[in-house]
Amino acid sequence: MWGVVFHWRLFIYDAFMTMERSTKQRSAIREAIESANRPLSPAEILRAASKHVSGMGMATVYRTIKAMTGDHQIVSIEMPGEPARYEIAGKEHHHHFSCRACGKVFEVEGCPGDLSALAPPGFEAESHEVILYGRCVTCVSTVKGLASKSAERTARKPAAHSRARRDER
Ligand SMILES: [Zn+2]
Ligand SMILES: [Zn+2]
Repeated sequence: MWGVVFHWRLFIYDAFMTMERSTKQRSAIREAIESANRPLSPAEILRAASKHVSGMGMATVYRTIKAMTGDHQIVSIEMPGEPARYEIAGKEHHHHFSCRACGKVFEVEGCPGDLSALAPPGFEAESHEVILYGRCVTCVSTVKGLASKSAERTARKPAAHSRARRDER
C-alpha cells in the first residue's frame, strides 16, 4: 500500500520536474529569440539558449520551435536556399539584410514602399520581399581592421624600395 503511494509521489515529482524543465527550456528559447532582435537559425537558438539552460539539445530546439510557431509566438523567415530562421511574431512590416561573410540575418527597418509600379503592365502586385545582401557592420570593420593592421605592418617595415617608390612620384 505504502509502496504504491510512494511510487505515485515519485511519478508526480518526475512529471513535475519534466514540466518545469521544459518550461525553463521554452522560456530560454523565447528569451534567445527575443533578445537577438534578428531572425535566428535553430543552431543559433541552441547556442544562445544553452547559456541559460544546460544540456539542451537540437531536438528540444526543433520541438519548441514547432510548438511556438503553432502558437503564433514566433514566425519563420525564409531566405532562398537557406534553412528557416525564426523571429518574434507580430513585428511591423520590415525587411532583412543577409551578411554573406558571417551568415547572420539582420532586420532592416526601412521599406521601399509600394513597388507595384515594377509589376508588368496589367499585373496586380500584392506583396513584396526585399532582401539586402552584403557584409554586416562587424564583418566590414573586421576586414577593415585586418586591412589596416596589415597596412601598419607593411608601413613599419623599413623597406628601402617603398621609400624609393614614393620618391619616384
Ligand atoms: Zn516592404
Ligand atoms: Zn557579418
